[in-house]
Amino acid sequence: MRTRIRNVRVFDGDRLWEKTADVLFDESGILADDNGPAEVEVDGTGKTLLPGLIDGHVHMGMSGMEPPATEAGVIAMGALLAAQAQALWQYGITTVRNCGTGKNGDLAVRNAIREQKIPGVRIVGCGRVLSITGGHGWPMAIECDSVDEIRKAARLQLREGADFVKLMATGGMGTKGSVPNAPQLTEEQMRTAVEEAALVGKFTAAHCTGLEGAQRAIRAGVHIIEHAQLDEETAAMMAQSGAVYCPTIVTRYNILHTEDPKFQWMRAKANPGDLVRKKKALNLCKSMGIPVIAGTDAGPNPLTPLGSSLWRELGIYCEFGMTPVEALHAATAGAASVLGIDGETGSVRPGLCADLTLYDGDPTGDIGQLNTLCCTWQGGILRYHK
Ligand SMILES: [Zn+2]
Repeated sequence: MRTRIRNVRVFDGDRLWEKTADVLFDESGILADDNGPAEVEVDGTGKTLLPGLIDGHVHMGMSGMEPPATEAGVIAMGALLAAQAQALWQYGITTVRNCGTGKNGDLAVRNAIREQKIPGVRIVGCGRVLSITGGHGWPMAIECDSVDEIRKAARLQLREGADFVKLMATGGMGTKGSVPNAPQLTEEQMRTAVEEAALVGKFTAAHCTGLEGAQRAIRAGVHIIEHAQLDEETAAMMAQSGAVYCPTIVTRYNILHTEDPKFQWMRAKANPGDLVRKKKALNLCKSMGIPVIAGTDAGPNPLTPLGSSLWRELGIYCEFGMTPVEALHAATAGAASVLGIDGETGSVRPGLCADLTLYDGDPTGDIGQLNTLCCTWQGGILRYHK
């Protein structure tokens, strides 16, 4: 069905167009406007059109770190994943990078969506993560204590169709008993995973809280550095290696501000200075030209729900010094380019999939206006309407 949005303000993923425009699309993608008839005409006057948003770090299907232990539990996880893949539309999200889900549940649901068995957002997934024995996320990980073990684990995940390989370079907040800043996988182990992924054209990402672990990952050639509170030295290493930063600030923000007694063990591990250091990290990326992919870490921690947390994350980027256009770039065209899917999505450009979002207000002037979302199209099909 051909849809034309008339006279709309357009942020194409990189820049805001000088003049309002008409945008035509159907299920085959965004079309060069031929002024021919369209079945649906939307008056875009006063509204803003953006590419569908990308949350560059989530964990779908997970409640906590424990994957389901029974067959029935795995079925329930699949149902949850499928439901989440549709609920994200009400927040304008049309793509996620899923950074770890037990039992490779994300890969199974990704395939079902790709094969058009069920509707849902585009998922770029890694399935199970690679960790040391007892390391961060171990209940959903393949535990690897040597170079051979990690080579085997990386190959297993690639065989299962992982879009990237996720490495746990350090301990983390979410695993009880795990020391957040402690280095875990060795540089040699991570280099091995990077090599295995590169052989089949895939990339790697590393969970890094402490900087020793982050530096090992950067030296090993890891593509995306998650979470780390970068200092000058580490940021300079990233700028040199071409690594990308995924900040996930909202999760830490929520942990630091929760009064819920259930989460006080997690809050006790966090330091209020963490947010100051995250702000510094974001600004180091800006000054050193390190690409940022927006990401929330939403999913396993009920404090940080999927969907709305991306709006909050982008709001924090702006409070910390990004312009709304820079923040939106990190959640659209910038993110798509990092994930290697910029030929499919992330921009308003003829030839790309019509993953689009329309807002009554103007998020490029005020990021808080993301909550004026009125329509989300995935692949040219209207999937959310206010
Ligand atoms: Zn994560």
